[in-house]
Amino acid sequence: MGLLYLGTPLAWDDAKQYADHVRTHGITQFLHIWDNLKDRFGDELLWGDEVEYMVVAFDNEEKNAKLSLRQTEILAKLQSIVNDIASDRGEKASVPTFHPEYGRFMLESTPGSPYTGEVHDLLTVESNMRYRRHLARKYLKPNEVPLTMTSYPRLGTQGVFTEPFYDPKDAVSSHSLFVPEEITNPHARFPTLTANIRRRRGSKVAINLPLFIDKQTPRPFVDPSIPWDRNIYPEDPEAKQGAALVDHVYMDAMGFGMGCSCLQLTFQSCNITHARRLYDALVPIAPIMLAVTAASPLWRGLIADVDCRWDVVAGSVDDRTEEERGLKPLQNDRFRIPKSRYGSVSLYISDEWPNRPEYNDIEAPIDAGIFERLKGHGIDAPLAKHISHLFIRDPIVVFSETIHQDDTASNDHFENIQSTNWQTVRFKPPPVNSPIGWRVEFRSMEVQPTDFENAAFAVFVVLLSRAILNYNMNLYIPISKVDENMARAQKRDAINTQKFYFRKDVFPPGVQSPLSSPNSSGLSSPVDPTGNGILRPKSKKLGNCFPPAPKPEAGQELGPVEDEYDEYTLDEIFNGKGETFPGLIQLIYAYLETLEVDESERQRIEDYMDLVKRRASGALQTPATWMRNFVRSHPAYKFDSVVSQEINYDLMVAIDEIERGERQAPEFIPPHHVCKPANGMKNGV
Ligand code: ADP
Ligand code: MG
Ligand code: MG
Ligand code: MG
Ligand code: MG
Ligand code: MG
Repeated sequence: MGLLYLGTPLAWDDAKQYADHVRTHGITQFLHIWDNLKDRFGDELLWGDEVEYMVVAFDNEEKNAKLSLRQTEILAKLQSIVNDIASDRGEKASVPTFHPEYGRFMLESTPGSPYTGEVHDLLTVESNMRYRRHLARKYLKPNEVPLTMTSYPRLGTQGVFTEPFYDPKDAVSSHSLFVPEEITNPHARFPTLTANIRRRRGSKVAINLPLFIDKQTPRPFVDPSIPWDRNIYPEDPEAKQGAALVDHVYMDAMGFGMGCSCLQLTFQSCNITHARRLYDALVPIAPIMLAVTAASPLWRGLIADVDCRWDVVAGSVDDRTEEERGLKPLQNDRFRIPKSRYGSVSLYISDEWPNRPEYNDIEAPIDAGIFERLKGHGIDAPLAKHISHLFIRDPIVVFSETIHQDDTASNDHFENIQSTNWQTVRFKPPPVNSPIGWRVEFRSMEVQPTDFENAAFAVFVVLLSRAILNYNMNLYIPISKVDENMARAQKRDAINTQKFYFRKDVFPPGVQSPLSSPNSSGLSSPVDPTGNGILRPKSKKLGNCFPPAPKPEAGQELGPVEDEYDEYTLDEIFNGKGETFPGLIQLIYAYLETLEVDESERQRIEDYMDLVKRRASGALQTPATWMRNFVRSHPAYKFDSVVSQEINYDLMVAIDEIERGERQAPEFIPPHHVCKPANGMKNGV
């Protein structure tokens, strides 16, 4: 989350009066940034991760693992610790930062300053993550642990799942049947978001995940843990009026989605053109990284038949009215909107030739007035469409104190809309008056139980992004196929059961695969790092500014889009298929050959690539598969799809032990990687 402004939030009926005002001034603010920074060039690679934790409080007598609601105190404590460390060291920038998140049981941490393109920084990612976890762990209560769980298995169950306990009947913002008001961060922004999404939509959100049907699951499964006949809030009857489906896990509040944790990465680009190129390249990468990081099979005390959080989060903030969802003819609203504001990307945005118009093949409504305004200001159509598509949404939270802003000094109205469009990839313009350049954020990955895994996926994506840019790889496939991949990625055991659309030839015409160059004697000694015939010395730094892909020459026809892609297993996408399709890992290794990497660096990077490789091949389980198996092989499990308090407790204990290196789980994490204390520091405290 960004900085939290303290002020008076407007209830929906008041906030909506300012929707046009926020949009108009948000665009003015964007245009101001555009005018000042569209020609900014030459920014170095800076990048960083965001890791989200859930603080779990163990009650070893009751055998219960609960969500600790001490976020406010914990963050205050961590802030003062971090300040002390900074003043001791006199270098504030390098001390990690902790941020609030939606759930009152959540923390987010980022490195204190971004990593650079230095090869060595790839090796500091894991120790930085471990240091952050170490700090959080050290200043919690002795029975509290910061776990990197994507979804909390017993959030919203009957019984006690928070410390302290609160009754869901007090859920004045969400009106949830399951989660109390107190699971939400008390800062005004969050309860207001929750309530205004419900009010704008005209009902509670309704999420139904298919249930994993086990041997003893009663059929049809009419969930006995839903308080069907509660009668406190006007929406209480929704569950029995059709919102809750049989054979599904039903959830009815923002907290189920925004109470999930994830792993995000932000990259600074050389300039705006590069940022748009990278954004587009990462769009088709998002679903496959979701599939290989799958970590959330357990929801509201039940086993789901999906492995990922994505659709839950999308449903949890779906503020579209019935008209917008296409359930009623348009009368009061402006658009039919196919997706929730948390959703996959709907438009590629590059204005370079590889982005063929045919790829943008799904319905993506735009605000026509905003589109014309942006065009009139000289902004090209793909970018104008992107912004005017984001700006079909209303601002959900408006603070009365900040309605009127200096549009040359603030980007607050722009960010209000931008930062409540939660997509798989985000194009981040520079903030006003800051040294930060054009950035791209990669947002699809599930957070992993251990920092070894989180570092591995972070390093994989940063290296992949460099390989893509360095070799001018072309990953475009129609957006409709990316969306199909998003659906497949979330399916149970997608790695072993699903195929994914991917581009057949990732090199544009005229660009040779670095692996097919006859000059190169295998991977060990390439002489032509970009495949264009120019020899270069090895670099100490990951690159950031790359020449664009050469335009096809006259007569080099681009064939039909349908011939450009095929369906592949994740093993094929990551590890290659035959002569023509080298696989992403090989391309990263080829790119690594262009860098000066010493032996120990090389070894650790190989450990990381190996994890990704073995996940994609199915040789290692995803956290989702491992957790599902853990539950199903627990002696107390009744094969009825239920994750009991006792099973959940043992699962949380196991995950904590794995994270600390005290327990081996070789099915999903290579034994020797589990616990390498950073910088001589003890990992567990
Ligand atoms: P948000 O919550 O808005 O997505 P955060 O501030 O939580 O953003 O995280 C941003 C990430 O970007 C952090 O890991 C940070 O280290 C990194 N970062 C900071 N400055 C830059 C920059 N100039 N370029 C790229 N990444 C940056
Ligand atoms: Mg966050
Ligand atoms: Mg953040
Ligand atoms: Mg944020
Ligand atoms: Mg982020
Ligand atoms: Mg080719």
